[in-house]
Amino acid sequence: MTPAHPGPDFTALFSDRARRMNASAIREILKVTQQPDVISFAGGLPAPELFPLEDVRRATDAALTRYGSAALQYSTTEGHPPLREWLGRRAGIPAANVQIVTGSQQALDLLGKILISEGDTVLVEAPTYLGALQSFQPYGPRYVQLPTDDGGIDVDALETILRTTPAKLLYAVPNFQNPTGRTLNAERRRRLVELTGQHGVLVIEDDPYGQLRFSGEAAPSLYTLGLEYAGSVDANHIIYCSSFSKTLVPGLRDAWVQAAAPIIAKLVQAKQGADLHTPTLNQMIVTELLDDVLPRQIETVRRAYGERAAVMLTHIEQEFPGGVGYTTPEGGMFLWITLPQGLDSTRMLQRALDRNVAYVPGSPFFALGGGENTLRLSYSSATPGQIERGIAALGETIREALD
Ligand code: PMP
Repeated sequence: MTPAHPGPDFTALFSDRARRMNASAIREILKVTQQPDVISFAGGLPAPELFPLEDVRRATDAALTRYGSAALQYSTTEGHPPLREWLGRRAGIPAANVQIVTGSQQALDLLGKILISEGDTVLVEAPTYLGALQSFQPYGPRYVQLPTDDGGIDVDALETILRTTPAKLLYAVPNFQNPTGRTLNAERRRRLVELTGQHGVLVIEDDPYGQLRFSGEAAPSLYTLGLEYAGSVDANHIIYCSSFSKTLVPGLRDAWVQAAAPIIAKLVQAKQGADLHTPTLNQMIVTELLDDVLPRQIETVRRAYGERAAVMLTHIEQEFPGGVGYTTPEGGMFLWITLPQGLDSTRMLQRALDRNVAYVPGSPFFALGGGENTLRLSYSSATPGQIERGIAALGETIREALD
């Protein structure tokens, strides 16, 4: 059928904000890697066989019985009060300083919306979480990359940058970072909190993985150190985001923000415009699971990911040629590979796929480019047998690329 009218020039009608959006490089890659024979270390998916299916079924029933039709009604933007109270108690702060969000991804978008004006300087790790760049990008930030090493952000470099650059915001994933698996060490956390406090820079601490530690010692959150630094909840310059996605299940989209009252008040306004509230029943289901299922589940996931990471590291050690660097995560779902200079992980991907193994090239994780010789491996959703075969195939791919 011939159209009667060519229709509007949609592209020309997009807002400046929409023009700044781009397709996630990872999603495009994931499409290629989802063929059934491919061993994929590319996706950042939690292990589905560990999901507590029966517990969620029981909790859904319990929530519907407990709350009746209120479980299916509209509810407050701030979130289900018992859930906020539980989270507040755990953090040692009032429930009023906790905002429930629809995935921590929503927190990143709403925080971008309320904090970033066009041209504002946002400091990000190099590399950083791609989803944060996607959330912030429409609001027109000017990124400055912070150098990182195995201890996380280089705080000496941060100090130098802050001396000359008036920044608005610093975004960081201090625990088992996506994409590198690295953790910001305790001493640097203190300096980061002090430096940003002194320079009036707000910090978004994105912590979906903190509970999934399988080795080493936990360091205090930036949020806790911010409380000490500021002396009160409502003067804390750290905004903390976390989520039930990696500890419980991602599909319920339940996550939260801890922040000073003025930030929470503005988030509430932004969230009203976005989705009114996080689904009522989903919040109630999670609340039913907090006291017994959540701690058990965290143990299960921690143990499984610890084993998978160990298998991956052992085989990397055996199979990868000398000169290939890798991180040793103490928790979370990812590790980071640095190939010898001159190798390009984007170009190498097709050769890896030919051997039925997939990964994500590292360069999209750099806000300002770079990292062509890096790549991210996820060990969370592959079995130990797949990890062994996949790492052997990747080792061959790297050797071939070096020839
Ligand atoms: N932050 C980081 C660092 C992540 O890795 C993810 C998930 N990939 C998110 C936020 C978003 O998680 P969710 O929206 O499921 O809470």
